Amino acid sequence: MEKHNVPELFGSMVFDDRVMRARLSSDVYSSLRKTIDENEKLNEDVAEAVAKEMRDWAVEKGATHFTHWFQPLTGITAEKHDSFITPSPDGGVIMEFSGKELIKGEPDASSFPSGGLRATFEARGYTAWDPTSYAFIKDHTLCIPTAFCSYGGDALDKKTPLLRSMQALDKQAKRILKLFGKEVKYVRTSVGPEQEYFLVDKEMFEKRPDLIYTGRTLFGAMPPKGQELDDHYFGMIKPRVSAFMEDLNNELWKLGILAKTEHNEVAPAQHELAPIFSTTNVATDNNQLTMEIMQKVARKHGMVCLLHEKPFAGVNGSGKHNNWSMATDQGTNLLSPGETPYENAQFLLFLCAVIQAVDDYQDLLRLSVATAGNDHRLGANEAPPAIISVFLGDELSAVLEAIKTDSPYEGKEREVLKLGVHTLPRFSKDTTDRNRTSPFAFTGNKFEFRSLGSSNSIACCNIMLNSAVAESLRQYADRLEGKDDFETSLHELIKEVIGKHERILFNGNGYSEEWVKEATEVRGLSNLKTTPDAMPHLLDKKNMDMLMSHKVFTESELHSRCEIMLENYCKTVNIEGHTMVDMVRKNYLPAIERYLFNLAQTTSLMKSVSSNVKCNYEISTMERLSELTDYILERVKDLEEALDKLKGQDDVMAASAMIRDDVIPKMEHLRKHVDEAEMLASEECWPFPSYGKLLFSVY
Ligand code: ADP
Ligand code: MG
Repeated sequence: MEKHNVPELFGSMVFDDRVMRARLSSDVYSSLRKTIDENEKLNEDVAEAVAKEMRDWAVEKGATHFTHWFQPLTGITAEKHDSFITPSPDGGVIMEFSGKELIKGEPDASSFPSGGLRATFEARGYTAWDPTSYAFIKDHTLCIPTAFCSYGGDALDKKTPLLRSMQALDKQAKRILKLFGKEVKYVRTSVGPEQEYFLVDKEMFEKRPDLIYTGRTLFGAMPPKGQELDDHYFGMIKPRVSAFMEDLNNELWKLGILAKTEHNEVAPAQHELAPIFSTTNVATDNNQLTMEIMQKVARKHGMVCLLHEKPFAGVNGSGKHNNWSMATDQGTNLLSPGETPYENAQFLLFLCAVIQAVDDYQDLLRLSVATAGNDHRLGANEAPPAIISVFLGDELSAVLEAIKTDSPYEGKEREVLKLGVHTLPRFSKDTTDRNRTSPFAFTGNKFEFRSLGSSNSIACCNIMLNSAVAESLRQYADRLEGKDDFETSLHELIKEVIGKHERILFNGNGYSEEWVKEATEVRGLSNLKTTPDAMPHLLDKKNMDMLMSHKVFTESELHSRCEIMLENYCKTVNIEGHTMVDMVRKNYLPAIERYLFNLAQTTSLMKSVSSNVKCNYEISTMERLSELTDYILERVKDLEEALDKLKGQDDVMAASAMIRDDVIPKMEHLRKHVDEAEMLASEECWPFPSYGKLLFSVY
């Protein structure tokens, strides 16, 4: 593989700050910077000047087309390419790209999901440039990150509400900082998403219709070796995988994506990539790109990258950890315990805001990661439970307890902690990062939300997190502004918040049965196990009120999103169900039948040669397999019937409940019998590659 000069390579395909500063006139540059940093309106002349430079730069880099790149509610990105060419009077072409084309696009968007927001006769939505996320070149195309809205102004994408939620948090956090005597330009949330994925051999993949149609295996018996040896985790990276990672890093670096660490994960064939954190909306765009490029690069290396949350039953699934914090334009991390007592008080207030947010809006966080795929992980004792709780670690918990009870803190000073007077102990990462079972853990200077599925867009959970924290901060600012004795009021407030929300704090084992009991029965935390359980809570009054009051969503946007998410769930499982039926009828039953024929023929032949042979193996196998085929037939009919019933159900809430209660149990039942048959039949007759082949064939 060719060797690259990384600093030279990095960001070479991005119209980033370096390029803007070098190419734009200083007036244009500073005006664009104001738009980026302070959300100031962009004027037309500036747009025109930026467009011209962007085009020249892109053409120099070999681009021929441009596209408005956006994130519709399908969960993946969309692009429609236009070429730069415009006919010139002399019969040739010139490369053109106007300010108008930069700012606004009109994709024919009638077939993107809108949940009724955009009647199909009014097919046009429009895309609007997001100057806070840099344009980049991919496949000879200049990609302009954009938001996607209907002409009525309703958001049809994930970026718009994310940007709105960042603004909401910015506004409230600045109010709080003002109380601490700090004027800042902006407060932004930052995210570093750790991405897990599987790599399987392309030839194997192509033999499995379930992987092709649904991204996961719907059948498959466990191989003799799974992940029990723990020999894969952080283990030696296999040469083919290593070549893939090198190529992937180069591609990501070109796009200015800060791919930093890579290692093997728990399951065989499972890996992880973590970038260095960046501003949330950039991190979101970058994570979408990362997922896309992972899949492309894997193909080049004869492999397929599986981003599904649970590609293999019985083997660890894939998640995504959303490391989240808030920082000012001056680079102060608001979740970093400070150096002085006063900074500590500020830290504790922001910490409280997050704790309260997670407690008040557990359901929103849970539903923000709810998909059919992720339902297989949450609560399956490998991923965090579906119950949302916050891990703070012993030290910080002890500090909060001391504040709540006005009692001496057991740390070095052994004194009653008074905010604004005492410094906090330094929290080393080691003391806070031990509990891997917690869905929402404080890790020294950031929180790590670990419930996301590997294929989730990180936009969804960050919209909820930003909004909920903005709401806590709003309440605090309302209460503290204009108070004469700020320190006492602050102390009282923090004490009160700790007392009120301590039920969400849990440092113990999130996988244990006792926790489920305690969380739900004693603490009253919600345990929303599946997508149909969780999603309807988006429309709970308290949730709608909060999201609407911060102008993150409108009422109709919330209704449409709930509908679309449930629809996605129904469609996903429906496709899985039909794929199972198809595989059973077309492949599994005929394969078992062929094997039975072999066994029967062998038995009768053997018996005709010698009356002494018993044929115990042949006969017992035949009997059990024949029994299994009968079960399989019954179970596949059950599943067909359940899927048929769904066809008549137009209401998505009802349909999703039918899937949860009827379709999925029938799918599992069917699978159980087929997997048992796989264990009995010969490998030769089996129609699809086994788990062993899928998991262990890449070297
Ligand atoms: P690990 O979780 O594997 O131990 P780290 O804690 O070092 O690794 O980092 C995990 C992720 O958290 C990385 O993507 C890192 O960039 C990100 N991260 C670190 N600091 C912050 C921050 N202030 N805000 C958001 N993400 C951060
Ligand atoms: Mg982590």
